[in-house]
Amino acid sequence: MKRTATARSLDGLVAAGALAPERAAALGRVADRYAIAVTPYLLDRLEGAEPDSPLARQYLPSSAELEVTPEERADPIGDAAWSPVKGIVHRYPDRVLLKALHACPVYCRFCFRREMVGPGGDALDADELAAALDYIRQRNDIWEVIMTGGDPLMLSPRRLGEIVSALDAMPHVGVIRFHTRVPVADPERISADLLSALKVSDSAVWVAVHCNHPDELTEETTAALAKLADAGIPLVSQSVLLRGVNDDAAVLEALFRRLVRARVKPYYLHHGDLAPGTAHFRTGLDEGRELVKRLRGRVSGLCQPAYVLDIPGGHGKAPVGPDCLSGDADAGYVVEDYRGVRHAYPPVTEKL
Ligand SMILES: *Cc1c(COP(=O)(O)O)cnc(C)c1O
Ligand code: SF4
Repeated sequence: MKRTATARSLDGLVAAGALAPERAAALGRVADRYAIAVTPYLLDRLEGAEPDSPLARQYLPSSAELEVTPEERADPIGDAAWSPVKGIVHRYPDRVLLKALHACPVYCRFCFRREMVGPGGDALDADELAAALDYIRQRNDIWEVIMTGGDPLMLSPRRLGEIVSALDAMPHVGVIRFHTRVPVADPERISADLLSALKVSDSAVWVAVHCNHPDELTEETTAALAKLADAGIPLVSQSVLLRGVNDDAAVLEALFRRLVRARVKPYYLHHGDLAPGTAHFRTGLDEGRELVKRLRGRVSGLCQPAYVLDIPGGHGKAPVGPDCLSGDADAGYVVEDYRGVRHAYPPVTEKL
């Protein structure tokens, strides 16, 4: 029997066979606090899954979410301070986030916007959307519009098409970028109608797909990505470094190889944000740097994302990957190769 409904409660997860009833009984407070949603497609994969499997850890609620540490905050990356009108976050001069919708196909347990997304978070109404588009239209220095949310590919193709056309018609907007979990969470949604809604005549549309584990790149997901790539849309990925899911060099290697094989360039590996109740997912920065360093020797440059930290307080993202270069121009540089061997630069020349 093909499932048709998204599970939005503990009972729904139990009925789908994704969560054992005795585990569900202990999770009432988690369900009261944070939204639950798992698509039919992912329920098929979660049925009977071990609670600590990479998919279960990402999508099924856990009592660890009730532990909020002092440094965690509702707005971990400080979006609120940079929001001039509803639905817009304008932190960098040349680009804005446009959040037309707060709903996602799934609610990831580690989400950095977990206090903003969900059934309580509403979409922009027609006037609010018009005001957000006006904000972009009136500012010539906005070159890139990043559609995020929520998940922008949850909009109906008709509404999506209207927004894309409005942005495409603004001469200063060069790039419309979508951040989405749809290919991973609900690949059937990448339909012919959706692809035609993403057609532009002037700007470039890019899609950044959110994917954290090689098990998420199933045949269905890979086929959905192929449809986007065949439509001429360049694809990049973003992943979050998650303890117990992908904090392992072999897992990251498999993930990035599969992404590149699916014509997706790994873009960012995010260090876990300080979202409430997500401490069990966070690694140390030193662990992240060590993992990324190990990848350097294992996979090609195409498979290397930038390891980034979104600085709490709204200061933007900073690359925090390992440094291969030390020293300075006067004293001379030392550069480390992929095996960890250090070399002087420029090379020391032997005196005769
Ligand atoms: C992450 C982010 C962007 C995009 O940053 P890139 O480095 O261009 O991917 C833009 N605006 C805001 C507010 C962001 O948080
Ligand atoms: S899809 Fe993205 S925004 Fe939505 S819950 Fe998952 S991490 Fe958060």
